[in-house]
Amino acid sequence: MKITANNPNRKSWLKVEKHSDFPIQNIPFGVFLTKDDIITIGSRIGDYAIDLAALHQLGYFEGIPLTDDIFMQNTLNDFISDGRTTWRLVRNRIANIFDIENSKLKENKEHKNKILFNIKDIEMLLPVDIGDYTDFYSSKEHATNVGTMFRDPDNALLPNWLHIPIGYHGRSSSIIVSGTKIRRPHGQTIPNNASQPVFGPSKLVDFELEMGFITTDANKLGKSISIDEAEEYIFGMVLLNDWSARDIQKWEYVPLGPFLAKNFASTISPWIVTMDALTPFKTESPEQNPKPLPYLQQDGKNSYDIKLQAAIKPKKQEETIVSNTNFKYMYWTMTQQLAHQTVNGCNVRSGDLYGSGTISGPTKDSYGSMLELTWKGTNPIKMNDGTERKFINDGDTVILRGYCKNDKVRIGFGECKGKIRKAKM
Ligand code: MN
Repeated sequence: MKITANNPNRKSWLKVEKHSDFPIQNIPFGVFLTKDDIITIGSRIGDYAIDLAALHQLGYFEGIPLTDDIFMQNTLNDFISDGRTTWRLVRNRIANIFDIENSKLKENKEHKNKILFNIKDIEMLLPVDIGDYTDFYSSKEHATNVGTMFRDPDNALLPNWLHIPIGYHGRSSSIIVSGTKIRRPHGQTIPNNASQPVFGPSKLVDFELEMGFITTDANKLGKSISIDEAEEYIFGMVLLNDWSARDIQKWEYVPLGPFLAKNFASTISPWIVTMDALTPFKTESPEQNPKPLPYLQQDGKNSYDIKLQAAIKPKKQEETIVSNTNFKYMYWTMTQQLAHQTVNGCNVRSGDLYGSGTISGPTKDSYGSMLELTWKGTNPIKMNDGTERKFINDGDTVILRGYCKNDKVRIGFGECKGKIRKAKM
């Protein structure tokens, strides 16, 4: 089926600012709360939130096989379960309804009042009920930086890294939507040169600039998803800040890996940008040498050119951009990650979230965490307000942004932000 929603020449009758992340070519999906306390599934064009439940009720999705209440839900899980054909039909239809050449809704004031909301008048909610969360470790630059800092610069990558998309199973209960404030966590840490741990607030709270992808239910337990079919089961992507308490992490991670250092909060952006919308921005991923095992081999363009940025905004001060990177630097692709995740027969479900791992680029200003940007705190970042940062201070808001751009279209993810509040027991 043709993705007519991606037509780069299409214009909407809704006003879209020039540098908006949400032109009519984006049409992301999310869940929002209206002023009247109604939760609905929605989309967005420019600064307008579109109530898809109202659109459906008023007959605008006629001819598309959808259950009556598919958009009258507080998560996207059921819609995602409907599969790629349905996602495409719905996105194509939304593009058609809001096309500048189509006056049907444009000239129906009563319907518009029920369907359109100013983005300032709604509250974005977590878009999916996340059953399972996996976090990968797929940036070679990031893994190399961490290996260099903590182990051995000459053998920074462990022997398995170039053969396996390394990951661990995280926790979904503490995944929160952008804008939710985060309490600085308490935990056990080991002071330098000490033999006994101490307990208290983490002193080294960090961000991890990541992206996440969300799957539909794809396979039964015991069956794997091949790399060639993996793409079909990926609904879309979000920005992900995998907040990390480095001092807690350092003491707890041996031998089973991250635990409480990573599950006090993980923030995602509220609008899921579909893989269909991202198609024009496909690009090649880095060459893989050695060649991975056959079940992980693929040809062609399997990554995406997504420009990414991290900024820190101290309380009542202007922000400082601390990193500019790109999703295309990821060594392992999403389809390789999904093929690997399921190669043993592990089943994935609708609404599951898969984190890329911290996305670091080749240059020092393209690293995706304060750990790397300040090299363990040895090289503090100068902020625009005159202060310095080694890690994240109380009152700081970390903002992640991401967008794709070609000659004709720019689509983006909006913001993924969270503020660190002071510790409290
Ligand atoms: Mn991570």
